[in-house]
Amino acid sequence: MSVVSSSQLVEQLAALGVRQGGVLLVHTSFKAVRPVEGGPRGLIAALRAAVGDAGTLVMPTMTDGERVFDPKSTPTFQMGITAELFWREPGVLRSTHPGGSFAAVGPHAAFICQPQPLSPPHGVDSPVGRVHELGGQVLLLGVQHSENTTLHLAEAIARVPYSVTHPCVVEIDGAACTVPIAETDHCCTRFELANDWLRARGLQREGLVGHGAARLCEARDVVRVALEQLATEPTIFLCPETDACAECDAARASIPG
Ligand SMILES: [Zn+2]
Repeated sequence: MSVVSSSQLVEQLAALGVRQGGVLLVHTSFKAVRPVEGGPRGLIAALRAAVGDAGTLVMPTMTDGERVFDPKSTPTFQMGITAELFWREPGVLRSTHPGGSFAAVGPHAAFICQPQPLSPPHGVDSPVGRVHELGGQVLLLGVQHSENTTLHLAEAIARVPYSVTHPCVVEIDGAACTVPIAETDHCCTRFELANDWLRARGLQREGLVGHGAARLCEARDVVRVALEQLATEPTIFLCPETDACAECDAARASIPG
């Protein structure tokens, strides 16, 4: 495959609809995007150029919660090389949730990364909640809506009936303690339903970025269409019992009877 140049990457992002001066939350799999000029750092540079100096770039930098979280040193867990390199770049801020942190750079970075409650990790008062509040865009780059954390925000706003707790190490008075953190967790496979909901309403732009399939939507549209569906079926994001999905069964078992 041909190497996509930096200027081509920026053109692709603009053609997709990424706004100069906007807030852009990116979920990415570099494997789908490569090869591009400059590798993952080149992709980050193109994303920063696409929003410009007046724009704010945001990525998830979630961690495994198995040690005390230090935003300056704890590596990401299953977030991909792009996000792992992004939070380590000079001037990039990182929020402090021990499992659900995000990194951001740009004028709104401090607002997006300010402290939040432990639970829910992705509620209104969280980085994704603030991207939503700011009218930001969500870019899925080589990944599915199963990676779209903004759908967890919709679950929080909808007050879905399921909630699962996961142990997470936090520091309390200087000592490492394991605390349970409640979240609307499940396998997230059915988050991909949002693809058709958004497409059917003309609310999702699709194209190529590098060699990867890219989808762009407004965070407010993602939340609005998900809330419409959750209002009629609060467990729509859980796999049916017939699928024997352990994670979704655990979520279903948490619903008060
Ligand atoms: Zn499932």
